[in-house]
Amino acid sequence: MSLLVVGSMAFDSIKSPFGAVERVVGGSATYFSLAASYLTPVRLVSVVGKDFPREVIDMLASRSIDTKGLKIAGGETFRWKGYYEYDLNTAHTVKTELNVFRDFAPVLPKEYRNSPYVFLGNIDPRLQMDILSQVRGPRLVALDTMNYWIENSPAPLREAIGKVDIVIFNESEIREISGEYNLVKAARTVRGWGPSRIVIKRGEYGVLHLSDGTMFAAPGYPLETIFDPTGAGDSFAGGFMGYLASRGTADPTDMDYRLATMYGSAIASYTVEAFSTERLQNLSTEDIAERVDAFRALTEFRV
Ligand code: AMP
Repeated sequence: MSLLVVGSMAFDSIKSPFGAVERVVGGSATYFSLAASYLTPVRLVSVVGKDFPREVIDMLASRSIDTKGLKIAGGETFRWKGYYEYDLNTAHTVKTELNVFRDFAPVLPKEYRNSPYVFLGNIDPRLQMDILSQVRGPRLVALDTMNYWIENSPAPLREAIGKVDIVIFNESEIREISGEYNLVKAARTVRGWGPSRIVIKRGEYGVLHLSDGTMFAAPGYPLETIFDPTGAGDSFAGGFMGYLASRGTADPTDMDYRLATMYGSAIASYTVEAFSTERLQNLSTEDIAERVDAFRALTEFRV
């Protein structure tokens, strides 16, 4: 079933201990759409400048990604510059240039308004709420954010969180927004604002999924080659929501959520093996199934 995503599309400049790249394609909606497109049809809402490569838009459109909601505006594409040290779990932002996002006032194409699954990707929380208000009766809504919005737009972000079912954070983000170091307590605090489920990304250490009365922990896959963690979070979210949308139910079971977590983890584990979307855009469904199986083998034990 269709999965609507709003988020950034970007040019990234990234340095990690393993190399550096300038002005490569990135953005939360880019990674998310590609990851989810292996599992379900995606409806993309974003904005790029005229400087964004046409081939990339064509590549997205050649998959099950509807790009009718992608606006090409006068001005420059969103840019993010960041670096990682040996702790690849923490991205350090050097510069964020909103550019065409500054005046973006999206109007959803008519056929997007009945989207049953919605992902409010990392972008201005006012924009996330604007999009959500244009969707009629979605079944499941998830939201992602980052420290930039936690620090610059705390009130709108709190309001947006209050309108969704699931929030996906990384460890430092949920600690910052909740003011709680302990992750179980932090998740309880955020659940008190409205969402019934919290997913906490812990970089190479995996994912923790908390709801009322249940917890699920998935490890990170122990990879031999990691080049660039950028996009891992959005690829995770794409696999996670893509799996739930492919199931098509309004009320996923606990096992649906567990499997969604494993699909997200499997796809994200490929993203970090290369810079930008290089590895993510060249996966096969067999690669994904193989990694899900490898996760099963990694954690299976009997008593
Ligand atoms: P992640 O999956 O969390 O590593 O997110 C990576 C993507 O987030 C990068 O490709 C960036 O272009 C994008 N990004 C960085 N800062 C922001 C921001 N403040 N708002 C929206 N997107 C951002």
